[in-house]
Amino acid sequence: MKSWRDNVRRVVPYVPGEQPQDQDMIKLNTNENPYPPSPKVKEAMKNLDEDTFRLYPDPTAHKLVKAIADYHGLKESQVFVGVGSDDVLAMAFLTFFNSKKPILFPDITYSFYDVWAELFRIPYERVMLDERLDIRWEDYCRENGGIIFPNPNAPTGAYLPLSAVRSILDHNRETVVIVDEAYVDFGAETALPLLAEYDNLLVVRTFSKSRSMAGMRIGYACGNEEMIRCLNDVKYSFNSYTMDMTVLEAGAASIGDEAYFRETVEKVIKTREWTQEQLRRLGFTLKDSRANFVFASHGQCPARELFERLRQNHIYVRYFDKPRIDNYLRITIGTPEEMKKLIDFLEHYLAKRKGER
Ligand SMILES: *Cc1c(COP(=O)(O)O)cnc(C)c1O
Repeated sequence: MKSWRDNVRRVVPYVPGEQPQDQDMIKLNTNENPYPPSPKVKEAMKNLDEDTFRLYPDPTAHKLVKAIADYHGLKESQVFVGVGSDDVLAMAFLTFFNSKKPILFPDITYSFYDVWAELFRIPYERVMLDERLDIRWEDYCRENGGIIFPNPNAPTGAYLPLSAVRSILDHNRETVVIVDEAYVDFGAETALPLLAEYDNLLVVRTFSKSRSMAGMRIGYACGNEEMIRCLNDVKYSFNSYTMDMTVLEAGAASIGDEAYFRETVEKVIKTREWTQEQLRRLGFTLKDSRANFVFASHGQCPARELFERLRQNHIYVRYFDKPRIDNYLRITIGTPEEMKKLIDFLEHYLAKRKGER
């Protein structure tokens, strides 16, 4: 018997970190920022005129595009915006990864990449990180249909120096190289200065982490004018009005408050360094993180056990049951108070566990 089920596009969806409705939880599982967005965002929201909601928003998202372009010293025609960087990345996969050759990305990385590749039927190969869980640029010097990697990488937090990003670009002039800079503001080097030299580079950013606006869904891509035009052609063939009126105002207001942005990022970095020090003291091994999370493994206590115990105590972190990383916890950096509670809990738990053996 034939059925509509024979023709369904089947996908195994990406699984986002959970958003528990737990009142007194410490939420360190989805790399959100513990601080609110700039007060200028609140002001911009207050000044919204609901009467304009009758109208469609500006399909070019000009106000936001201009703010981002000015901020990075680029032309407006070099900036593409979307509903979070997930939307931007999905559009970029659809636009630029259209070859029969496989695209390349690390075996341990953002777990949405293989989902989009499957959804769009793009062939792909996972490139193994080295034994220290670092990207080796030499491994990306082979035939491919495109390349994508986050810098810093997720969930390891490890970053690739700009010279290595440049080497990847030097060996790949004929396919698009996407650098996903979701966490770059927390201490890594951006590839944006390389845009002037490489016409196949696309740099993707988000407001979700360093700008405390995960709930607003703003992401963007910077590239040369032709690439951005190609992206817009695909976007306008899919959904022209992706950025609503509130988002355009909120995003532009955030870009307009550089002092607040710097201050917030510095606070997170400082707490990260403190947390790493404390975790090492408790016997954890860590990748040196340049992101707003740390990736930690304990010599004596399995990560899964810690994950479950933390959860029972209303502290939510992320655990990936995947080869090579199933003994690690990814812990988002919260406020100093939250991290102190995490460390106190771990300290007591590990000491008690040791005593029982
Ligand atoms: C968080 C994240 C994204 C997606 O962020 P959006 O909220 O969709 O902007 C993209 N890439 C990486 C590596 C991330 O960690």
